[in-house]
Amino acid sequence: MSEFVLWLLWSLVIIAVGLTLAYKRVDLKASTTILGFTLLAYSLFGVGYGLWVLFLWLIFAGIVSLNFVDFRRERITAPLLKLFRAILPSLSDTEREALEAGTVWWDGELFSGCPDWSKLTSMPAPELSDEEQAFLDGPTNELCEMLNDWEITHELADMPEPVWAYIKKHRFFAMIIPKEYGGLEFSGFAVAAVLAKLASRCTVAASTVGVPNSLGPAELLLHYGTQEQKDRYLPGLASGAEIPCFALTAPRAGSDASAIPDTGIVCKGTFGGKKIIGIRLNWDKRYITLAPIATVLGLAFKLYDPDHLIGDKDEYGITAGLIPTSLDGIAIGRRHFPLNTPFQNGPTQGKDVFVPLDCIIGGPERAGQGWKMLVELLAAGRAIVLPANAAGGAKAATYASGAYTRIRSQFNLPICRFEGVGEALARMAGNTYIINAGLSVTTSALARGEKPSVPSAILKYHCTELGRQVSNDAMDVHGGKGIVLGPKNYLGRTYQALPIAITVEGANILTRSLIIFGQGAIRCHPFVLKEIEAATNSDYEQSLRDFDHYLFGHIGYAISNAARSFFLALTHARLSAVPVSGPLARYYQHINRYSAAFAIAADVSMLTLGGELKRRESLSGRLGDVFSSMYLASMVLKHYDNQGRPGADQPLVEWACRTLLYQAQEQLHGFLRNFPNRLVAAGLRLLIFPRGRMYSAPSDELGRQIADLITHPTESRARLCAGIYSTPEPGNPLGLLQTALEATNEASALEEKLRNAVKAGVITTSDPLGKIDMGEHAGVLTAKEARQLRDLDAMVMELIAVDDFDSTELGSKTNRRAAPAKKTTKKKLTTKKKKTARRKA
Ligand SMILES: Cc1cc2nc3c(=O)[nH]c(=O)nc-3n(C[C@H](O)[C@H](O)[C@H](O)COP(=O)(O)OP(=O)(O)OC[C@H]3O[C@@H](n4cnc5c(N)ncnc54)[C@H](O)[C@@H]3O)c2cc1C
Repeated sequence: MSEFVLWLLWSLVIIAVGLTLAYKRVDLKASTTILGFTLLAYSLFGVGYGLWVLFLWLIFAGIVSLNFVDFRRERITAPLLKLFRAILPSLSDTEREALEAGTVWWDGELFSGCPDWSKLTSMPAPELSDEEQAFLDGPTNELCEMLNDWEITHELADMPEPVWAYIKKHRFFAMIIPKEYGGLEFSGFAVAAVLAKLASRCTVAASTVGVPNSLGPAELLLHYGTQEQKDRYLPGLASGAEIPCFALTAPRAGSDASAIPDTGIVCKGTFGGKKIIGIRLNWDKRYITLAPIATVLGLAFKLYDPDHLIGDKDEYGITAGLIPTSLDGIAIGRRHFPLNTPFQNGPTQGKDVFVPLDCIIGGPERAGQGWKMLVELLAAGRAIVLPANAAGGAKAATYASGAYTRIRSQFNLPICRFEGVGEALARMAGNTYIINAGLSVTTSALARGEKPSVPSAILKYHCTELGRQVSNDAMDVHGGKGIVLGPKNYLGRTYQALPIAITVEGANILTRSLIIFGQGAIRCHPFVLKEIEAATNSDYEQSLRDFDHYLFGHIGYAISNAARSFFLALTHARLSAVPVSGPLARYYQHINRYSAAFAIAADVSMLTLGGELKRRESLSGRLGDVFSSMYLASMVLKHYDNQGRPGADQPLVEWACRTLLYQAQEQLHGFLRNFPNRLVAAGLRLLIFPRGRMYSAPSDELGRQIADLITHPTESRARLCAGIYSTPEPGNPLGLLQTALEATNEASALEEKLRNAVKAGVITTSDPLGKIDMGEHAGVLTAKEARQLRDLDAMVMELIAVDDFDSTELGSKTNRRAAPAKKTTKKKLTTKKKKTARRKA
């Protein structure tokens, strides 16, 4: 063997040892020892070029020096700390509070580049208590039965009085209120299940019930209220005697809610006949859900104390208060009309409304803590209400579309047989699976005490976006049936309402561009927040010690992620250890790979772009997408486990994981293509895609299998869409479509007989009912079979029918200009005709 080849082999051995130490995250001391022995062996037995060996020993000497902590702190860390302090973007209190809100859960593992799967797989499957299940099967079903979406959205522009009474009586508004105050005290998982069922029936009802059970007076009181405030308000909120709303948004402050101009000035005044120190409030809010009928207004305002009546500060910042809407100076009651989804929503203004100090939630000592309270509560709440609404809507749309495309025929074939339609159906089913999985597993983490703010943002953004995609596809495969509104339309209102979910609780573009990665990068990163905290510590010695510890932890972590990303990409993640075997193990392995790739991409972009990354939203949005894809793919795998790994559902799991991981790859590619420093981008590309982009999207065959699952009455279809209101009864299209699907399935052999008879020339008509008549006449069908097919045809015709109206039924006002004009024309014509007739005579 030539000297050069031996040298090359030894060099490869040294690189392999270094790569393995980094891949396995071996600590600095052990790594130094192992590297030292390897170098020694090379120097003694290897073949080397003198300079090369010297170079290796010099590098090794550098590594050894890092083990001398005092030297390292003084010579390396101290100058770096100085630099870090100088460039560290200053964080406002509101930003800091937002960053620190909630807990870090599975998201932290994905950010680590080396997820510990046992943290996810060991979590038990979520379950409903007997009481929660009884509420779903009882009052929730009954409420669904009472809801008539057309009456609510078109005729009344509100829910009818008996529905309101039922909701209050059965404490739908009190699902999160503890029993001691008269509430139902349900878990987040149960609240989501109730809302999803309502959303499958009527968006107005789901939104109305959702709001008091999410961020609002009850939730704020439970976490921050004084005992007196809890005793005063919670029983009324539980019984429905009090109707809450929460007003944050103002005309000049939407997404930038911390910029609200609404004020509260601490001053002296008279309240209830007594002279007290209180707050004079002025506000102008809009878009507030339930405001038009609210009795208690949760209000966010900025508190000022110019006369220092409660302390020595002039300004306290955003404060949350509870204001009875009956007080003088409050304008409330007018309504907005959100996209034909007429839940109660409207503006409110307050002019010099004087309230006592104890209107502040938590009392005066919580003055200025309003923003903190909101972001803390949103950390959990965003994972429940809107994702549950999206889940209910998506499940209903998929359930309906699977059946509709099977019973609706064109070109003599059920439309689901056309590949184009099948593609849309597969997308609908796969996306519904992803929404379900994300919601179910994340709410089960909430039940275990987690308040994962980044996963909540992921769920809010992706469930509503995927829900929108499902709804779009459902509209497309239904054609005109989805478009013509009326009592027979079960899709149009959900489709109209979708942008509402996209906009509220943090509009989606902002959530994707700023929050998911922006918050994740600091919150879920194992070192960044700790480094910032250490660097901002005013005790210099402690600051240096801590900063040194985290900085070198961070460097080791980055080296390890680079090694892991490269190795896993090179081996297509085949050797990565995962907790399962079988075909799904590959998806776990790919998540491991993308976790490392994402972690190194995130670190390098933070290092090279710094604060600029906050403004490069297209880059941080893409990194957020990669993170979200990994998160959702792991939710899909866990959900499949939770459901007992039913083999029939495997195509759904594969489609979902493939789609998500393909997106992760494409978004990483887009990130690298657009990264401003091309040299750094090239280096990252080498670590992330050394073999190019090898991952592919789901195959057409997989799509066909999924479309087949939801266009037949299979167990997978039932599991995927479980929890919607599908009772087969008049007025419930979901139930009737299922009945028609089952009947179509049962009659498929008879339809086959008819088709064969047509081919044989026994049946010569193309009219569907005529075919049945001829078939019966020719003995192809028995009388019973012919009846079965006629009944099915009637059922199908009823389901594909749409509504029509007299003009006067549609407008809310008479078209006064058009109506008389028509008569005049008619009259003129008549007169003209008469004149002509007379002339002729
Ligand atoms: C039907 C409905 C019900 C509501 N209910 C309530 C309620 O009960 N209580 C309440 O307080 N509020 C409520 N809201 C208000 C809701 O939370 C706001 O609409 C939302 O915060 C967005 O504010 P905006 O509509 O003013 O849009 P804008 O803030 O003007 O945003 C417009 C667009 O710009 C994007 N954008 C803004 N800033 C950024 C950024 N930095 N980076 C990237 N993109 C950005 C947004 O994503 C959005 O796409 C409701 C709104 C609606 C429509």
